[in-house]
Amino acid sequence: MKTCQLKFFRIAIFFLTYCFSYGFVILSAFWVSPVVASQYRCETTPGILISAPDDTMLGYVCDAADRAISFLHRHQLQPQRAINIEIIDEIINQDGYMAYGSYDRQSDRILMMSLPAILRSSESPQMYNMPFDEEHYVGALAHEITHAIFQHNAKNTEEQWNNAAQEYLAHATQLGVLSAARRARIIQAEATGTWESGDEISVTYMGFNPTGFAVKSYLHLTQLSDPHAFIQILLNHKWLYISVP
Ligand SMILES: [Zn+2]
Repeated sequence: MKTCQLKFFRIAIFFLTYCFSYGFVILSAFWVSPVVASQYRCETTPGILISAPDDTMLGYVCDAADRAISFLHRHQLQPQRAINIEIIDEIINQDGYMAYGSYDRQSDRILMMSLPAILRSSESPQMYNMPFDEEHYVGALAHEITHAIFQHNAKNTEEQWNNAAQEYLAHATQLGVLSAARRARIIQAEATGTWESGDEISVTYMGFNPTGFAVKSYLHLTQLSDPHAFIQILLNHKWLYISVP
């Protein structure tokens, strides 16, 4: 999974980075921080740059990147630049509620809790009404990676109101990267249909029923005769909700 490890000493004004594969050393100025992190790249997707306290989450991140990129590639969407992912052991507080991961459009960075941090964050952490586990961790990572790839390809990058469009694709990908058996169980348990013509895809609906939102989005995307055309609608989208054509 990792081809090079950049040792990252954030305990001095200068930090040294070593890349063993390429055999170079970089000296850069950096501010003092008590956290020691290392930087890694995935072998099959070198555009994925990971900063983490150690290499224990690397396998999940690189697997999620491979799966998300190949799912989106089928819909002619590719990353346009490097994707930066920082793995942390602290809870992510996003606008007052706890999130396992987040993507920040301004910095173009993904922040993701480590799997052990998620598992100890509550008594029974869940995803799509099921116990959170390794497979859901890969799915959650794929979700955030999709946000980054969406933003790389969005036509209105300054647009802040296209959350529904981003979440549609992020949840469709999150379900899409799971094993067929796991995905079938989630779809069966939710017992909902696809988004229908005239429906409004909104983050309000997602807030009420995230699993239903994910299932509807996955079913809708994968049943479209021309998914690429619909993804172009999403990428050009400027408003709070999407009226399904
Ligand atoms: Zn999201």
